[in-house]
Amino acid sequence: MTVRTRFAPSPTGYLHLGGARTALFSWAYARHFGGTFILRIEDTDLERSTPEAVQAILDGMNWLGLHHDEGPFFQMQRMDRYREVVGQMLEAGSAYYCYCTPEEVEAMRERQRAAGEKPRYDGTWRPEPGKTLPPVPEGRKPVVRFRNPLDGDVTWNDLVKGPITISNRELDDLIIARPDGTPTYNFCVSVDDWDMQITHVIRGDDHVNNTPRQINILRALGASLPQYGHVPMILGADGEKLSKRHGAVSVMEYPAQGYLPEAMLNYLARLGWSHGDEEIFSMEQFCAWFDLDHLSKSPAQFNPEKLAWLNNHYIKQSDNARLEALVRPVMEREGAQFEGGPDLQAVIALLKERASTINELADAAMLFYRQPAPDAALLAQHVTDAVKPALAQFGKQCETVEWNKAALSALLKEVLATNKLKMPQLAMPLRLILTGQLQTPAIDAVLELLGRETVLARLAKFSK
Ligand code: GLU
Repeated sequence: MTVRTRFAPSPTGYLHLGGARTALFSWAYARHFGGTFILRIEDTDLERSTPEAVQAILDGMNWLGLHHDEGPFFQMQRMDRYREVVGQMLEAGSAYYCYCTPEEVEAMRERQRAAGEKPRYDGTWRPEPGKTLPPVPEGRKPVVRFRNPLDGDVTWNDLVKGPITISNRELDDLIIARPDGTPTYNFCVSVDDWDMQITHVIRGDDHVNNTPRQINILRALGASLPQYGHVPMILGADGEKLSKRHGAVSVMEYPAQGYLPEAMLNYLARLGWSHGDEEIFSMEQFCAWFDLDHLSKSPAQFNPEKLAWLNNHYIKQSDNARLEALVRPVMEREGAQFEGGPDLQAVIALLKERASTINELADAAMLFYRQPAPDAALLAQHVTDAVKPALAQFGKQCETVEWNKAALSALLKEVLATNKLKMPQLAMPLRLILTGQLQTPAIDAVLELLGRETVLARLAKFSK
């Protein structure tokens, strides 16, 4: 058997973290077994589906590198097929026309509620041997209902949650086609999973209640059943449903904030799944491990600090050319002046250790690509009369010193000794004059990167 999984989002909004994780698990499961991963867009809710949302899903999947092997299939393009299957079911007797109006069904439910019963369709139009159906109301368009088994249970061994049993008495005869002939949600999913020969349905546990209905429909169609695995949802760190309050919920906000896809994938993989104490792993490694074992039965909690920690790890691992390509456009937006500035990759090499995001890295790198505008009060505080001769001496010797970190560091020490100063007494005013800020990486590294010309020009401008 070839494993065939699918990701079946409804294009009613962006691709959120929960959806991305479901996609990742379905994709990785197929990869683990050398199977096929299918993308299916469930766009039958015409009022809520938009082309922008379809694009957002494709963009998100693409950014994460979760490439599908088949599809994308769009349910709206499969309407003829659904109608065909409805026709077959009517013919086979596993579905029937029901002429009740929505008002009649509501009245039926009211009566049941009043009698203390569970509200459900009462089977008025359900054909039974020896039963006479009511006369068909003139000019009324019927819905089509699925003839759900009356007795017995639906049981499946959920790949995540273990055995689940639902009594058929809990399920009434589901509408599978509306009066205008359009098919309904659970029916379309069932026909698709059947036609696409899906072997493993991995999805969020908000779908658990749909599964017995889909199993019954698949059985009526004579289809072989996929296995189902329902993944618990993702909660915010406060235990509440994940929402805007917990940070970005759209996957595509993460590249905008400077997260790397491999950090996001690594993070999502560990949300509700574990492999020993492994925290950092590649997708190749994940696909080799991921077989739906070790999935947690309880909801996972979203932890933005951990995501940032992983992102920092992958930034440190990335080569500087790749980082430059990501950092440069952000810096351009921030007005960086690259001309006459140091080599950006050298700056990145110095700063990437401490950056949690590309945007943080870009902000830190701006230090080297804008004119410093030191605050006058800070200058007065740090550039004291005691320090001025040391600055002058340093500036003078900068004209001839060999321009590398080691030589500059030696020069700083020499100036400190001559003037009987401690490192911060010289480093702080230098930082302020050369960069406009008091917090920078090590001063010798900053000097080296700024270059002799810039350092001399800035010191000279100040001493005038
Ligand atoms: N379209 C459904 C959703 O976006 C998923 C259906 C499924 O995976 O069976 O929640």
